[in-house]
Amino acid sequence: MTELYADLLITGGIVVNETGRFTADVAVKDGLVVFVGHPDFAPRARRTMEATGKFIIPGAIDVHTHIREPGMTQKEDWTTGTRAAAAGGVTTIFDMPNTDPPVWSLDALAIKQEAAARQAHVNYGLYGLLDERTLDILPQLAEAGIIGTKLFYGNTTGNLPAPNDGAVLEGFEILAELGLRCSIHAENSPMLFWRENRMKAAGRDDAFAHLAARADIVALESLNRSITLSEWTGARIHIVHESCMRSLPIIRDAKARGVPMTVETGPQYFLLAAEDLVGDKARIARLNPPIRERAQQAPILAALLDGTIDMLGTDHAPHAMAEKQHASFWDNACGFPGVETSMRLMLTLVHQGRTTMEQYVRMASAAPAKAFGLYPRKGVIQPGADADIAVVDPAKEGVIRGADLHSLRSRFTPYEGMETVGMPVATIVRGRIVMEGGTVADAAGWGRMERPQMPPPAPRNLATTTKAILRPGAQSW
Ligand SMILES: [Zn+2]
Repeated sequence: MTELYADLLITGGIVVNETGRFTADVAVKDGLVVFVGHPDFAPRARRTMEATGKFIIPGAIDVHTHIREPGMTQKEDWTTGTRAAAAGGVTTIFDMPNTDPPVWSLDALAIKQEAAARQAHVNYGLYGLLDERTLDILPQLAEAGIIGTKLFYGNTTGNLPAPNDGAVLEGFEILAELGLRCSIHAENSPMLFWRENRMKAAGRDDAFAHLAARADIVALESLNRSITLSEWTGARIHIVHESCMRSLPIIRDAKARGVPMTVETGPQYFLLAAEDLVGDKARIARLNPPIRERAQQAPILAALLDGTIDMLGTDHAPHAMAEKQHASFWDNACGFPGVETSMRLMLTLVHQGRTTMEQYVRMASAAPAKAFGLYPRKGVIQPGADADIAVVDPAKEGVIRGADLHSLRSRFTPYEGMETVGMPVATIVRGRIVMEGGTVADAAGWGRMERPQMPPPAPRNLATTTKAILRPGAQSW
């Protein structure tokens, strides 16, 4: 047997994948897991990390973050955002395209790539924007390595108008042939703006008005439209931040029919309730879609546990403090930081017996990796996989404080003062320790851009695509 010298050996811990757990040592070399097994057979290593009593899990993959650079660095940049990820046990983030400039051209993608390559402490995927301006360059954006596209049916930071449905249909036709997944903010913009303007005219300016503008129907309509277009074209879609229990039977039915869709929710939609949001807390927790009524929490969590909702995404959406402190509720920026607190919140649910470590690994790492073409390179701890690892102390207690967050310009959280049990105590990105004992290392530029390897495309109804009908005299029958 040739002597293998590993870079790092994690000893004495319990490895947890989505399929189960076992006690094993884990060795890492050249950024990859090279050994998972009995200590007697473990290779020697330059460095050893003692993990007795701790869980060794695949690092979280957060498919929904807003890092804000370029253009909005008063809120967040690639250094602060990826340090926050490292602190939270997150080894890969996907960044949304609603920056300034938005990722609607190859040049804009290059600007973001440059900023990320210089600063990122964790791995990253970059979304391209799907709208009327990007249809022609989708193949080039795919070639350049975007992780997927984002469609904003609802309004967002940066005020990108929702594209019209003809453009979305053509966009889905193109994406279906490329095989890339399209993440969708599924809220109906005309409906929510109409209702918002009606309430403003009537003098309403309160936390519950925000929820009222975006009542369940606003999400349900957009979800149904997204499913219809996906089912027709074969475009793979991902519904972000599902918040609505009335969506669940629609999602189950669509998946049963073979609609190529995945769904995400965030901890805020089953841990926070509109009834509790008053004063400052309401301003901080204002986001889109809104925190809904308490009655929606249990069904959303149950759907996450049974797989109707595939995965967790945080919608990490930092803002400068002042952008959250306007007198009118309508003027306060939507969103709050989430990438750093998600794992702690979920480990607390594990501690409470409301979910298991295996289920957490599925929703936080394995399912995202599978949906976006990164599995089994990521999302599992086994030889050959990237050494993207979180070491978790399931008993470590703490209190969430905005002042402790690594999102230095956005140190507020709706979980202020919440007691948690369970915490990531080390984060390892491709073999390098980027956080240990709560201290984030200087690993600027270590993060790598992740490109998807999707299954073969499966487009549908090719005879009637927009491309097909552009041929003179083309017949569709
Ligand atoms: Zn978002």
